[in-house]
Formats: sequence, structure tokens, C-alpha cells
Amino acid sequence: MNEKAQFHIDTLAVRAGQERSQFGEHAEALYLTSSFVFDNAAQAAARFSGAEEGNVYSRFTNPTVTMFQERLAALEGADACLATASGMAAILSTVMALLKSGDHIVAARGIFGASQQLFGTIMPRFGVDTSFIPGSTPAAFKVALKPNTKLVFIETPSNPLTEVFDITALAELAHAAGALLVVDNCFCSPALQRPLDFGADLVIHSATKYLDGQGRVLGGAVCGGKGLIEEVFKFLRTAGPTLSAFNAWVILKGLETLKIRMLAQSASALDLARRLEAHPAVARVFYPGLPSHPQYALAMRQQATGGGIVAFEVKGGREEAWRVIDACKLLSITANLGDVKTTLTHPASTTHGRISPEARAESGITEGLLRIAVGLEAVDDIEADLLHGLAGC
Ligand SMILES: *Cc1c(COP(=O)(O)O)cnc(C)c1O
Repeated sequence: MNEKAQFHIDTLAVRAGQERSQFGEHAEALYLTSSFVFDNAAQAAARFSGAEEGNVYSRFTNPTVTMFQERLAALEGADACLATASGMAAILSTVMALLKSGDHIVAARGIFGASQQLFGTIMPRFGVDTSFIPGSTPAAFKVALKPNTKLVFIETPSNPLTEVFDITALAELAHAAGALLVVDNCFCSPALQRPLDFGADLVIHSATKYLDGQGRVLGGAVCGGKGLIEEVFKFLRTAGPTLSAFNAWVILKGLETLKIRMLAQSASALDLARRLEAHPAVARVFYPGLPSHPQYALAMRQQATGGGIVAFEVKGGREEAWRVIDACKLLSITANLGDVKTTLTHPASTTHGRISPEARAESGITEGLLRIAVGLEAVDDIEADLLHGLAGC
């Protein structure tokens, strides 16, 4: 079943991309094999040259990985998808495949910490510089575009402050300057937002997060047009940050429950965000599904819901924020997100601890900020756990 357009996303999530073997298995098969055999020498030569389609070696392609790629492409409404070993491998492969020395990136300042490190400290060694733009105003992106800008890179909503970016406006700006718009869709996933529908050229995923959804494996993907994905594939098959068949199988099955998980997690996140907003020890709540969010209208245009991530600032600083974390008995103190178990993190000292204090201040990540990735527990239990520490603030 590979027809993408004719079925609803719910149907595609459980059916798209499946290829049955000669055994007629009902569930998708896991092909744990590093290489594939050929009928004869001529077929081996034809597979290697590309004259005949088919699997050769699992660094290039693997049937389980292909099923995952087809299914995610169907969900994102993309022509093609390429799986990678992690979300960072997807971002690295994209920039290594599409950029060269002398090229320039315009990226939002508030992107994932490792993405900032990659663009800010590693890529310059290869002659690729990045301008980081604070905030989400399209005009600020426009003035940063240069003749050699090849990529505009955003996350929407951003991590951890849930800033929302206008995908359509930024795609228009990027295209007018001859650049591509790349959107990290980790926080929403295609269950809630499809950036390609709004004009983005490529969508990046950390499949480690909501796509797996149960905190088991690392994975990543890049989705978009066939030509661009083919370029990224040329880099990946040679350089090797390929997704393992096992991880692909886990995430492929994760996609089947993605939408029902994300709708339930979003409903709980909205409920929790409202309760936090009313708490006297909370200075501010950042959640795109709250009317108090500065880009609420834009978020509701681009996203089906506000998503599962809520950030909030406790009154005070690091001491008060850490007190809330340390008083928790139920929530997991971990930097991961997108899990069915609610996770709680202090971005300033963990995920965003390695970026400079200036960059952190520019991104608005204060010492009192906490980020919750709401899971599937009862909201009353999540709230009660946070109240232990908030009561003492
Ligand atoms: C986690 C994350 C990444 C990196 O993904 P990995 O799978 O950990 O490599 C990229 N972007 C965002 C928004 C993330 O949350």
C-alpha cells in the first residue's frame, strides 16, 4: 500500500509502506542482516551499478528501514524520506550533502542545543558560517540573508520556549533569496503539523522523540522532494550515519500510535499549562495552545494542537527551579522528550548548558525555566508531583 494521497493520515500511520515477504507476515518484518545475496555475478554487478534496483548492504538500504521511510514520507506528505541514525545525523547529513565551503546558513537562535553547536562551532571549520537570529520575526531573517545563503533553518515550536515560526512567510523569504527552508518538526510531528504543506523544502525529525514515543531507540529522518533526498542519500550511504534495521522497526511501529498519543498528550499539556498559569509560584507559562502565547493565532493556523511540551518559569532562579525537580517523586528527571512517561528538565543546566551564557540569555532561557514533556499519566498526578516543589517557592 503505497498510494499516499487517497487515505487519511490515521490509515497511513498503520498501513503505508508495508511490504510483505513471501511468508505473508501480518506485522512488518524486521530484517536483521547487514548485507544481501545476489543470484549471480551479473546481478551483483547490476545492483552495485544501480542498473537494477534492490538491496545491497544495510549501510545503503534495508527493507525494514525502507518501510519506515515510506510510512513517514506518507505522513509528512513528502515525495521521499531518508532515515538516519539520530536526529543530529539527519541535520548533519543534510548540511554536508547540500552545502559547501563558502555557503551560509541563517538559523533561529532558539534551536536545539546540539544544532547550535553543529552550526556555530563545527561547520565554520569547513567554511560554512551561520547567522543566528534571535526571535521569530520574519523581517529579522530577511535582513540576515546573503547572496551565499543556502539554508534557512528553524524549529517550530522551538525548544524549550515553544516560540512559533511562520513557515509560509519564511519559505517565501528563503525562496526569494535562492535558499531552502528546513524545518525541524520534532515538537509537533506530522500528527500535528506538516511543514511541507506550508512551503518548507525539507523536514527534519529526531525520531528518538515522539515518533518512537516510548524512549527506546535513537533515530532520525529527513523528508522532502525526491531530488534533495537523493542528494542527502549520496552523502549518507558513503559517510554511514544510517538508521539500524532494529531501530527502524521500533520507530515504524511507533508511528502507528503517534497521532493518538500526541492528541492525548496535547490535551493533558493544555490542561496542565492552564493549571500552572494559575499558580502563584509560576512567573510565566510558555505553551502555544494557550491564548496568552504571543503567537497563539499563528500556532493554531499551523498546528492541530499546542503539542505536548510546556515550559514554565518559576519565580526566583536556579535554586527554586531545582527544588521543583528534586521534590518530584513521579516525573522523570531526564532531558529526553516525547515519551509516554512525563519528563522534566532544567534547560539552562542540561540541554542548553554547553552554549554560551550570552547565547542562552539571547534565547530567553533563564535559570528559573523548566520544561515538561507531558506523557500519558493522569494530569492530576503530574500536577500533584509538581506541586510538592512549587509549594515551597
Ligand atoms: C532531540 C532533538 C534533536 C536531536 O535528535 P537526536 O535524535 O537526539 O540526535 C534535534 N532537534 C530537536 C528539536 C530535538 O529535540
